[in-house]
Amino acid sequence: MTSSSKPFALVIHGGAGVIERDQLSAADEQSIRDDLERALEAGHAILANGGNALDAVEAAVVALEESPRFNAGKGSVYNAEGRHELDASIMEGHTRRAGAVAGVETIRNPVKLARVVMEHSPHVMMISAGAEQFADTQPQIERVANDWFDTDTRRVQLELEQARERATKADADNLRGKYFGTVGAVALDAHGNLAAATSTGGMTNKRYGRVGDSPLIGAGTWADERCAVSGTGWGEFFIRNVVAHDIAARMAYRGDTLAVAADAVILQRVPELGGDGGAIAVDSDGNIAMPFSTSGMYRGWVRPDGTRGTAIFGEND
Ligand code: ASP
Repeated sequence: MTSSSKPFALVIHGGAGVIERDQLSAADEQSIRDDLERALEAGHAILANGGNALDAVEAAVVALEESPRFNAGKGSVYNAEGRHELDASIMEGHTRRAGAVAGVETIRNPVKLARVVMEHSPHVMMISAGAEQFADTQPQIERVANDWFDTDTRRVQLELEQARERATKADADNLRGKYFGTVGAVALDAHGNLAAATSTGGMTNKRYGRVGDSPLIGAGTWADERCAVSGTGWGEFFIRNVVAHDIAARMAYRGDTLAVAADAVILQRVPELGGDGGAIAVDSDGNIAMPFSTSGMYRGWVRPDGTRGTAIFGEND
């Protein structure tokens, strides 16, 4: 930031979930932090040059989608049929424009298609075959075969989950810890505008066209003139709490600060119903919040004073 420009801020996440410190090797942790840094840099470069928040969150999320370490784009989890169905959404605060896609199978960067839905269609959300058909009309959207998203790590996760399900029938509905690594970004640009974006492969072993909160405007993603929010967690509970919008609504109707609003929803409302997860958020003054009720949440930030960092566990370790 130069002395004459207004402050900007950026926060990213690579998902909340059960992350055990002793099961994360130093090498893996370093690779994850490197990928978070790359995503921060992608968004930061845009904001530092006076670019807009929408471009910054898209660029940061694309960088995370390209990393096989997160559950979005390359590295997405497998559904019960051994395929990948991807969801994404994006929203701009001051215009309240939004775009989303769900259940897409051949879109290399679903967040890009979500933005194209927002900018080049009269709609907000498109799903599965229809979204693919729309993508056929948009040559700038890169397509890949579904197995391009394959990774050995996610295959093993699917096999373990299917074995667990066979062994413990009664517990099959308990999805705690089955999500992991959804990505998102929120930004305030030097023009004072806010934006948010989220992208995911959803939950391992999902069936029946299951869609979580990530592509749902208001649940997994929200931006208005006060704040921008991207969630990650047990999607069903994020939908039932309309998490991202509830954080914004608490600021608007109750006058809560961003931190109070985000903590109330993530640390009280979601757990009260039995869910868990986290969120990243930024307000129009550049305050940031990153609460989570899980053991960890991959995250990174650039504050208005230019300080930046990445963290996985506890207090911004
Ligand atoms: N919220 C995502 C979903 O339910 C998963 C995640 O955040 O990892 O699809």
